[in-house]
Formats: sequence, C-alpha cells, structure tokens
Amino acid sequence: MQKNDIIELEITDMGVGGEGIGKADGLTFFVKDAIIGDTIRARITKLKKTYGYARVEALVKPSELRCEPRCPQHRRCGGCQIQAMAPEAQLKFKQEKVRGNLIRLGGFAADFIDSVMEPIVGMDEPYRYRNKAQFPIGTDREGNPVAGFYAARTHSIIPVTDCLLGVEENRTILEMVLAYMKENGISAYDEATGKGLMRHVLIRYGFTTKEIMVALVINGQKLPAQDALVERLCTLPGMKSISININRENTNVILGQETICIWGDPYITDYIHLRDCSDDRFALTDTAVAFQISPQSFYQVNPVQTEKLYSLALEYAGLTETESVWDLYCGIGTISLFLAQKAGQVYGVEIVPQAIKDAKRNAALNGITNAQFFVGKAEEVLPEFYARNASGAEPGEMTGDNEASISGSGAGDMSHPDVIVVDPPRKGCDPACLDTMLKMQPERIVYVSCDSATLARDLRILCDGGYELKRVRPVDQFSHTVHVEVVTCLQRVM
Ligand code: SAH
Repeated sequence: MQKNDIIELEITDMGVGGEGIGKADGLTFFVKDAIIGDTIRARITKLKKTYGYARVEALVKPSELRCEPRCPQHRRCGGCQIQAMAPEAQLKFKQEKVRGNLIRLGGFAADFIDSVMEPIVGMDEPYRYRNKAQFPIGTDREGNPVAGFYAARTHSIIPVTDCLLGVEENRTILEMVLAYMKENGISAYDEATGKGLMRHVLIRYGFTTKEIMVALVINGQKLPAQDALVERLCTLPGMKSISININRENTNVILGQETICIWGDPYITDYIHLRDCSDDRFALTDTAVAFQISPQSFYQVNPVQTEKLYSLALEYAGLTETESVWDLYCGIGTISLFLAQKAGQVYGVEIVPQAIKDAKRNAALNGITNAQFFVGKAEEVLPEFYARNASGAEPGEMTGDNEASISGSGAGDMSHPDVIVVDPPRKGCDPACLDTMLKMQPERIVYVSCDSATLARDLRILCDGGYELKRVRPVDQFSHTVHVEVVTCLQRVM
C-alpha cells in the first residue's frame, strides 16, 4: 500500500471532527466527507505506520444516513463538515460525541451517564440560523470584485454570495456592495501584496427586531464615493446601522480597532427571550432581555438555540429570587442578565474589558440593578474574592477597575454563593478556578460548555471534589458542523 493507491473502504465509525473512519489491511483510515455506513473508493493521500488519510473518489454504496446537502459548495468551503448527513443522524452523532467524551475522558460509568443525560435539543430550522456573517472580498480572474468564502485551509476565495447558514438578506447586501465597487472602481484587498481597499463585509441581523447592520472593513481611512453605497444600502428594510471599520494591518484578524458609523446608529438592538423548558417545544415566554450590539461586540450567533440553551441553564440553576450567583466567563452578560431576573444578586466575570462595558450598558438598558460585573480572569478574580473574605477584609478593598463596583456588596455571599454558573471557552476552566469553586461550596454548579472533551475533564475534578452530576443536555447550536454545546447541573453532596 502506498500514497495515491485506490482502496475500497467501509466507513464504520466517525471521528470527533466529522471524518469517516474505516479499516483496510489493518490500517485505520480517516476520510473527510465520508459518513458512517458508506462504502467508498478512496485515494490514499497520506500513509503512516498504523493509520492514514484518504479522499473520497467514488461512493460505492452510500450510507442510509446520507441526505442531499443543500449547499453545492459544502465540500470546498469546509465550514459545514457534516452537511451530507441527515438532520437526525447529525443529532445522534452529537449526542454520542458528548456521551463518549464523558465516559472516556471523564471516567463516568456508561450506565450512570445514560441515567443523567437527556436527548439533544435540535433546531426547528437547521438552515439560515446565523445572525452574523463575515464575507471576505477578493478579485476574480477577470478582475471583478467577488465576495465568498476561503476554501478550506487556504486563502483563495470561492465566490458565493449566499451561505445557507446565514440570512437571505446577506446576498442582497453583498450584491449591492459588489455593484458599488465595480461602478466606482473600488479595489479589493489582496492579502499577498497588502494592497487594495475592501477587505470584508460584516453583516448582523437581529432575529427578533429584524434590524440590520453592515460594517465594511477597509484597508484605508476613507471609502471613496461612500454616499453611492449608503444610498443603496439604506433602502433595505430594517437597515439601522452602516459603518466602516479600519484595518490596515497585514493580518487575518478581520476587524481593526477603529469603527466609524457613516449612517444610522452605531448599533442594532436585539432581544433574547426566556423559553419555557417544561417540554420540547421551548415556547417563548414574555421575559426578554434587550441587547445593543455594535460591530465589535461579541453576541451569540444562533439566537434561537441560545435562548433554549440559556433557558435550560437558568432552569438548572433552580433560583428562587434570593440566591447569590457567580456567572464566570460572562461575555456581554447574556446569562447573567437572565439569572438576575430570578436571583438575589449576580456577579459576572469576564476577561474582555469591552464585553464588560457592554454587559453593564445592557444591564442598565433593561433596568437590571442586581447584577455586577468584574473585568479579569475567572481564575484570578474568584480566588481574590474568596481570599478577601477569608481574611476578614471589608468590601471595597479590591484595587483597580473592579474597586468601585464592589463597595456595598455582601462579601460573605460573594465567597459562599448559592450557585455558580460557568460558560468557558473551548479550553475549559483553569484548575485555580475549579479549586476556588470547590472551596466556595455552592449548592449547585451549572456548567455550560462548547467542548465536551474539556467539560468531561472538569466535571471529573468537580465530582471528585464533592459534587454529583445530576443533569446533562446537549444543545445543537451549529447544525451541519461538528460543534455541540452542553449544559450540565451538579449538586453538592459533601
Ligand atoms: N456566556 C457568554 C459567552 C461565553 S463565551 C455570553 O453569552 O455572552 C466565553 C467567554 O469567556 C468569552 O467572552 C471570553 O472572552 C471569556 N474568557 C476567556 N477566558 C477567560 C478567563 N480566563 N476568565 C474570564 N473570562 C474568560
């Protein structure tokens, strides 16, 4: 067997990245775009001692789990790893991924996991769910401006003005921008030379309010013939905000530091509603939190599933309006502001100062006065508060940015909260953070995770430290990709 050989493979398993796995001659092969149940003819692209990689050349017998993917570009784009899998099969894959990680990496017994794990919450509409899109702009062979996607692992742009995960408005907006560029001789940025003006078009859409924001990321200070573009864009129903963002760096970071609003408001508003978790319809309730979103703000990209995920988190927190609650890794305070409506006092911690500014502004916008926010690393802020109380110091002795915000609050409650909620990035919680959580001995811990591998690792530490895993529920926030969110609840036993 050698590179470029053609082999027949039966796909018997799938890896966490969505790749098909099959065996031939005792070697394990990983094959992108192959699905469990497929029999394929594959070309070997890489060969090691015990494993290799291969590419699908032909489907000999397609898996029963296949469906017709709606996007003709899904294999080239790389954004949707499992779009060719039927929706039900995708959900099963994600449920199994979480279950497998909890058993293998968390060391929990399979029977136990099956007794606490609830079925994954799927999407009613698995396409057009994203409220944010960022299209790179480039130039085609004929010299025309194009918008599209970077082909997987490259920097060449595949022209597409309609991604099926995004809203239909994206296409109209991109066509307007491209027509404006052509008519006014506006160049597209070229990564290789660092020359050219238009880099990216960022579009945000408020699912509840239907408000639209467009930000044009440019490699310059000004947009020539700006009015010609604004005149077009502002005719779109729902258009609220048009900005330019200046990014003159030779970098693949999309946004630069400076944003200038050139039409309308510098933000759009959207609402996140609490949903009723008593059955799988997740009906909307009257409780909603308003958010002002600027081009740079972090905001959840799938608002419908975020509502379900955070409503479950709130239910797991079991609040009765008296509790003190820490919300660690709070971002712009999405969960915190939900919690605040059912808790006595909420303390949010987040490492990005701008996000904390947004959280405070959003609290004020909603008339929420029982939420306080602190800038810093969870693994530093939490131990600091804990140590401060242990040494009997008075509130108000914290230094720096956080000083003003804590005066007058009960330090005792802060060191011994009733509930701690965490929603960390993929790498999970820092050991120092977990250690302090255990010392604080909250009645319940609600762990929201976007990576079930690090979740499994952290749950093991919390369970060894005196907690019992009570509930686990995956939520599909990103159909057609291999990503899955999980919300879990732990109860103190010792
Ligand atoms: N619940 C939030 C989002 C959580 S995403 C919301 O809905 O808005 C994870 C957040 O953790 C990000 O905002 C990230 O900036 C923040 N973060 C990353 N490392 C951190 C750390 N060590 N301490 C505190 N926050 C951190």
